[in-house]
Amino acid sequence: MDMMKKAYSARYFNILEKRKNLPVWVHKEEFLQTLKENQIVLLVGETGSGKTTQIPQFVLEAVLNENPSSGPKGKKWLVGCTQPRRVAAMSVSRRVAEEMDVEIGEEVGYTVRFEDCSSSKTVLKYLTDGMLLREAMADPLLGRYKVIVLDEAHERTLATDLLLGLLKQTLISRPDLKLVVMSATLEADKFHKYFVGVPLIKVPGRLHPVEILYTREPERDYLEAAISTVIQIHMSEPPGDVLVFLTGEEEIEDACRKIISKLGDQVKVVPLYSTMSPAMQQKIFDPTPQSVRKIIVSTNIAETSLTIDGIVYVVDPGFSKQKLYHPDTRVESLLVSPISQASADQRAGRAGRTQPGKCFRLYTQKSFNELEKQSYAEILRSNLANTVLTLKRLGVKNLVRFDLMDAPAPETLARALDDLYHLGALDDDCNLTKTGEMMSEFPLDPQMAKMLIVSPQFNCSNEILSISAMLSVPNCFIRPRGEAQKAADEAKSSFAHIDGDHLTLLNVFHAFLQNNQDSNWCYEKFINYRAMKSAVSVREQLVRIMSWFQIKLCSPGFNSLDYYVNIRKALLAGYFMQVAHLERTGHYLTFRDKDDQVVHLHPSNCLDHKPEWVVYNEYVFTSRNFIRTVTYIRGEWLVDVAPHYYKLANFPNSEAKRVLQKHYKKRKLSEERSCKLYL
Ligand code: ADP
Ligand code: MG
Repeated sequence: MDMMKKAYSARYFNILEKRKNLPVWVHKEEFLQTLKENQIVLLVGETGSGKTTQIPQFVLEAVLNENPSSGPKGKKWLVGCTQPRRVAAMSVSRRVAEEMDVEIGEEVGYTVRFEDCSSSKTVLKYLTDGMLLREAMADPLLGRYKVIVLDEAHERTLATDLLLGLLKQTLISRPDLKLVVMSATLEADKFHKYFVGVPLIKVPGRLHPVEILYTREPERDYLEAAISTVIQIHMSEPPGDVLVFLTGEEEIEDACRKIISKLGDQVKVVPLYSTMSPAMQQKIFDPTPQSVRKIIVSTNIAETSLTIDGIVYVVDPGFSKQKLYHPDTRVESLLVSPISQASADQRAGRAGRTQPGKCFRLYTQKSFNELEKQSYAEILRSNLANTVLTLKRLGVKNLVRFDLMDAPAPETLARALDDLYHLGALDDDCNLTKTGEMMSEFPLDPQMAKMLIVSPQFNCSNEILSISAMLSVPNCFIRPRGEAQKAADEAKSSFAHIDGDHLTLLNVFHAFLQNNQDSNWCYEKFINYRAMKSAVSVREQLVRIMSWFQIKLCSPGFNSLDYYVNIRKALLAGYFMQVAHLERTGHYLTFRDKDDQVVHLHPSNCLDHKPEWVVYNEYVFTSRNFIRTVTYIRGEWLVDVAPHYYKLANFPNSEAKRVLQKHYKKRKLSEERSCKLYL
């Protein structure tokens, strides 16, 4: 490409030879010609065929050839490629920078939430679908883009679905903008129905046969079964790398340790999950010596987002973490759930990229037949408060008429409108309020955004900023299994605040700063250094948004008697819809205007007693219903902070309701008394 005047390195030519072997290269001319003649192109191709790494480069080449000098307002034209997962955006952009022989962040960059690695030089940008949606909020016509590539459309994430709907409109106002929608082979028909008459290019993959093996009986413990299957493969199968699908970080780290303890140096075990550092992520692609077998233990990321060459064996327990939402109870949570048949087939396909392979399904053939054919789109499984806020901000007037591939359930939409109304983001006519507009600028859930916006009223925006940052990064407490566990728990208890986990997080954050952000200190205290560094950076970004709106940054004096009380009240001002009451029976009941739920305090909590009322950050289902990250609040605060929500007439009869009624009466009495004083 002639945009770089310097000569290419030897590595460049080396990689180029490999690239030319990818299946999409055969279709390069056909693809570019089709894109020239059409505004929208669909491209469907097997995972690993080179869609994500190659197509955006083809597009860029064409854009640069056709627009050699000028761009919008003297800036360079951009080609954008969206990814549902941040790990994929980061990893792929690094790879592409390498393929193009440039430094990451210069000509090729990436943008993910809370991290922007792009510059004025950038002409090809990988970004999460959520980030492109944010850009569209600031500039609905996406003026700097010449071509947008929506990748992994089959994943049907919320943000991708919204972008599809949005771009359908934008393309009408911007005839010069082009859209490429890329997807693995799943559900191509569905996309073709949504984009009627749009050309579809199919890139056949080069899959070798994959032998599928089922278990005879259902497995009781899929983690143990996965580990023993890996060991068995290593002992009895010919060379070839192994890919194991598990559901999350903790499980993956646990499995990695166990495999290493059994097989030692005979294998190289590599974890892969979204909260890993970029440096660790790059290691996944490091080649291993001939005699060593690589074992990758991954979340769903390796299903279609990242392709690792050399996999011959796949171990599929049949589960992944999936978002679920019940509009009745308003509970959204991540739940380990059975995957769909389509996912299972994708996973199996990973074994046949380089040679014939084997897929070990840790479930019976019968269970496979009973799985859903396709996973449901995220929009059908989510709390839509954030989505509605985004759409309102984008100026979508009629939500029901917005052209979505799958329309969400009306009650879910109603719930979202209701929540936003209670948060003060929408007025009686469902228009965005000033507060709502501000809330939409924060890359956070609406409740957290609200909490930040009102925090100066409680004189503690600095503290709420730190807590929000801590809640936005991975868990900072490291809890190794085995011998070190006790030491880790002791270290954690030195930060514990008896009034709640939010305050404990604040203590950790302060201690980290006091210790000059020292990684050794983190190590000694069993604190995740990377999580803390990101919390610092997230906080800085949130401060920028606060300053932009001139929201005051303030702290109660640390010696002030109300220091923690104010913070707890501010928490409640955002999260008043997430409150639970301790019943006389000894368990907690969430308190809402519909269906109460029995919940338990998550064992990780730092409280020294069971307070009558708690505010919580999230709901987790494991063996029971847990509320995690909980802080003690007082019932009368509900009456002070959210009287508009706690209009008790709508609430079912319960202990909690009677308690609140008493608080309301007390408040009324004291109001009357103070009135008398003035008379
Ligand atoms: P698709 O998007 O069609 O699934 P990709 O473009 O992601 O395919 O992958 C094409 C090829 O590039 C694969 O062989 C993959 O292994 C390789 N590749 C992708 N990222 C890297 C990387 N960071 N290092 C080495 N190879 C990579
Ligand atoms: Mg891809």
